[in-house]
Amino acid sequence: MDIRLIKAEDLEQLLKKNKFPKYRSKQIENWARKIDIISFDQMSNLPNDLIHFLIENFKLNKSKVKTSKKSSDGTIKFAIQLYDNLIVEAVLIPSNKRITACVSSQVGCSLDCNFCATSKIKKMRNLESYEIFDQIMLLNKESINHFSSPITNIVFMGMGEPLLNYKNVIESIDQITSDFGIGISYKKITLSTSGISKMIRKMADDNIKFNLAISLHTALEKTRNKVMPFSKSFPIKELVDSLEYWHKKIKRKITFEYLIWKEINDDFEHINALVSICKRIPSKVNIIEYNDTDNSIFRNADDKWINNYVTTLKENRIPVSVRRSRGKDIDAACGQLANKY
Ligand code: SAH
Repeated sequence: MDIRLIKAEDLEQLLKKNKFPKYRSKQIENWARKIDIISFDQMSNLPNDLIHFLIENFKLNKSKVKTSKKSSDGTIKFAIQLYDNLIVEAVLIPSNKRITACVSSQVGCSLDCNFCATSKIKKMRNLESYEIFDQIMLLNKESINHFSSPITNIVFMGMGEPLLNYKNVIESIDQITSDFGIGISYKKITLSTSGISKMIRKMADDNIKFNLAISLHTALEKTRNKVMPFSKSFPIKELVDSLEYWHKKIKRKITFEYLIWKEINDDFEHINALVSICKRIPSKVNIIEYNDTDNSIFRNADDKWINNYVTTLKENRIPVSVRRSRGKDIDAACGQLANKY
């Protein structure tokens, strides 16, 4: 077992039982979280017998950066190798005032959005909390190296569905926001979900103050069931109810992420359905550019339809922005993370 999975009290007990002082527990925890420490024998203020005890009883499953690729727009994509040699991708996105770390929560994804390259990855598992932690700490270190500044924002928009790995995501963020991590505030963290309604309610009940983004893409059930087949188990009505519930407790605006595809959702029926959901829930709409994957069914809608969406949303006083993709030339943009090597 990785040493970071054992609770501090349990480690203290175990140390005591083996005649090591309790205070070593805190030292070990501190060392284990440091990004440059990859083996127990680097924990330089621990006595040798304790180091041997740790080596015999625990693992330190550190992740490492395997490769990186830089886009012409400054975005950098990293392949991060996990202890079992599986790979997740993570992206650093610099802009004027911020450096955003886009992180993964699963290897591959358990959902089946037809337009997303990540859903095609066969080998799938949840990331452990310490793997998400390492991923963010590695990105932070890279950010300091490349941009002379730590990361300022975290978005769970890499591989995987964070709400289907809820416990580990929350645990990792507990650590990242603490002194062990980088002390970043919850306000700077955005969790993006395809819309797992019962977990959205749980997040509200647990009072987790992330920013929330929903990959909506269409507000019509029939279309959503086609492009995101898993959504048959998560009807839009339940999703919207859960968002209302979340908003009542957390009191923040929700972001709807929205792709507009030719002959799929480029018509007024879809526009009006979106408007009516936005009227129920304090929200803003982020229209994102569709990035090509190896899939010919999906094509970006004509600009005319993007304008129709924008105009109608504005007429209804719903905030809307149109976002250009970053890192497309290196397959680092939304929906393109697919471990191509
Ligand atoms: N599973 C979560 C986290 C992934 S976020 C979620 O769905 O929200 C990745 C974002 O990129 C999602 O909004 C997803 O819908 C979007 N996306 C997927 N494929 C895309 C593509 N080919 N082009 C643009 N965006 C895409």
